[in-house]
Amino acid sequence: MNDMSIWPDPGLTDTALLCTQGDFAGAGRLAVRNPADGAMIAQVAMSDAHGARAAADAADAAFPGWSTMLPQKRAALLHRWHALIVEAKEDLARIMVAEQGKPISEARGEIDYAASFVQFYAEEALRPNIEGVTSHLEDAEMELWREPVGVAALITPWNFPTAMITRKAAAALAAGCSVVIHPSAETPLSALALAELSRRAGFPEGVMNTVVGDAATIVGEWTADARVRALSFTGSTEVGRLLYRQSADTVKRLVLELGGHAPFIVFEGADMDRAVQEAVKAKFATSGQDCLGANRFYIQRPVYEAFCTRFAAAVEALTLGRGETDPDIGPLIHERAIEKQEQQVADAVAKGATLLTGGTVDEALGPLFFRPTVLRDVPDEAAIMSEENFGPIAPITPFDTEEEVVARANATEYGLVAYLHSHDPRRIYRMTRALQFGMVAVNRTKVTGAPIPFGGVKQSGMGREGARQGLEAFTDIKYVCRDWG
Ligand code: NAD
Repeated sequence: MNDMSIWPDPGLTDTALLCTQGDFAGAGRLAVRNPADGAMIAQVAMSDAHGARAAADAADAAFPGWSTMLPQKRAALLHRWHALIVEAKEDLARIMVAEQGKPISEARGEIDYAASFVQFYAEEALRPNIEGVTSHLEDAEMELWREPVGVAALITPWNFPTAMITRKAAAALAAGCSVVIHPSAETPLSALALAELSRRAGFPEGVMNTVVGDAATIVGEWTADARVRALSFTGSTEVGRLLYRQSADTVKRLVLELGGHAPFIVFEGADMDRAVQEAVKAKFATSGQDCLGANRFYIQRPVYEAFCTRFAAAVEALTLGRGETDPDIGPLIHERAIEKQEQQVADAVAKGATLLTGGTVDEALGPLFFRPTVLRDVPDEAAIMSEENFGPIAPITPFDTEEEVVARANATEYGLVAYLHSHDPRRIYRMTRALQFGMVAVNRTKVTGAPIPFGGVKQSGMGREGARQGLEAFTDIKYVCRDWG
């Protein structure tokens, strides 16, 4: 640990972290607990509706100066924030392990991923924001100006507590928006550490405001506020629907990154070593608590037995433990997540599935450590085949034809990502076209990164994050037509 002094000592109640949002505090303290053992690692000052309004006031007051600042200056501040995040990587990763539970290697990977958005959008801030139009009117000259929309509200989940903030905030700030941020109650420390680093980077006051508190109260204040012109949310489809409705009255720009139910499809002839290896990654990264997590495995019948046997053996070899010991899988976030795993296993087995490995809590480690689990012959009627698992359970089912697996894979309200393993180029083409998902990964698992537009179709959300497309929700087009006649 270096001396960045952003580490919250156990029981600490008055640090730079807490001061970051002191202006908006006033609703008691939130206890932050380590999911590995339930120990309280910090208390954070909470805000109420008044604090949420004060944050929106500050962002609104900062907007004129920030939006008209030379893009070079905005870019320089983003580069400085990036450098501080990179410098504080180890502290940020350890904070994340302590409040979120993920293995330390994954936490370090998330800090790299989070920092990459800040760097990417620092560079995007410099790209031209004016486009010419070939005129269709005599003597007229036309331009499209991309202008920042105003204050943007950013609401983030606990599973990627750092990257989901930078993916939104860096794009909004590069576009010229000031922001109000509400992190999940499970992981406020990662958010407050980022806020502290942004303060050290020297962003003008009011440009970036982080508010911890009761989600419905804080976010409700912002959805009702006409000055908040954009809302970017990552979280469950259920809460996404609610925020969509709440944003209607003030007609906000929306980015909704919601739930997923990714199919993982393996055809006969695919490289089986690779398919098994990628299946483990697609299911168990982030201890299964990942919107991109593979939720159901469709394996073509001729290779079904081989896949089940080899996949179950690979899963049995995974290690479960506290994040700081760098296991493959850490604890789940809270008791509700454990209850869901237990219900989904019991339901699948009652409907005819066979448990190959796992299926229970490892009591010796603690109540939130659920063993990596594989179920085979899981019928489509089992709850786990349609509701998000968000944990370490892999349900497998056989299929016969391409048409059949397309129909079953698409039979979901979700449409975030699909994984496909095949070595037949024509089949890959047909399948990629037919799968109704915002992202399709072929013969690999990792697809994310700052240069790609991340996002889903159907009820997995709307809008894209990352890439140039990630700026769209934070900008409006102003069309200017000048007459030289
Ligand atoms: P969640 O929807 O419960 O909470 C997400 C955020 O919404 C939190 O900050 C929470 O405080 C806030 N929130 C909760 N209730 C609210 C309310 N009534 N009004 C306003 N805000 C409210 O989701 P979660 O459990 O934190 O995260 C898991 C979900 O996020 C999964 O469904 C997962 O698939 C999804 N997710 C999606 C992506 C993506 O990019 N598509 C990425 C990560 C996670």
